[in-house]
Amino acid sequence: MDEGKLIVFSAPSGSGKTTIVRYLLAQEELKLDFSISATSREPRDNEVDGKDYYFLDLKSFKQKIKNDEFLEWEEVYRDNFYGTLKSEIDRIWAQGKHVIFDIDVVGGLDIKKIYPDRTLAVFVKPPSIEELKIRLKKRQTESDDKINMRVAKASIELATAPQFDHIIENNDLNEALKEAYTLVADYVGAANSPGS
Ligand code: 5GP
Repeated sequence: MDEGKLIVFSAPSGSGKTTIVRYLLAQEELKLDFSISATSREPRDNEVDGKDYYFLDLKSFKQKIKNDEFLEWEEVYRDNFYGTLKSEIDRIWAQGKHVIFDIDVVGGLDIKKIYPDRTLAVFVKPPSIEELKIRLKKRQTESDDKINMRVAKASIELATAPQFDHIIENNDLNEALKEAYTLVADYVGAANSPGS
């Protein structure tokens, strides 16, 4: 491959971006690999170190910031740091693959700023704030308080959508998957239908 690319999917919680990213990763002809972020938060029960995240203690995370090992990092919640390690991008590019990210809007836009000519930044938009609330409730993974917090954050995140290269409106998941596939296949120059 001449040049590895970066594909960023950012969205408010509950808009379906993780489903889209998983679908794209399964399409081998796109040659994508997932950027595993580092975080200082505790692993959840079903999470695996080195697969979902690289779990670091706060001290190690801060040391890596000092060592300039991150492409971007953020304190998303108090003492919960998240970031993309430069070594992660090198690892994936060295395999001749493109990097796909499932990260928040601030981190996504930072990556676009650092690599403007090799980043496709896609924003996944839920149909409405009301619908987002319904989806988060259905998921039953968060308390009402946390849902309200995520919904409040979503309104702020939605305002950043125009800064992305593309906005996918996730009203119908199948349509959203098709649209995402076409965008990414065009960007990386892969054959333009799933499985081809
Ligand atoms: P969670 O704790 O639910 O896994 O993630 C919390 C938030 O951190 C989400 O909005 C997620 O997209 C974001 N996040 C995950 N990895 C990164 C990263 O590497 N950089 C940034 N800036 N945000 C991240």
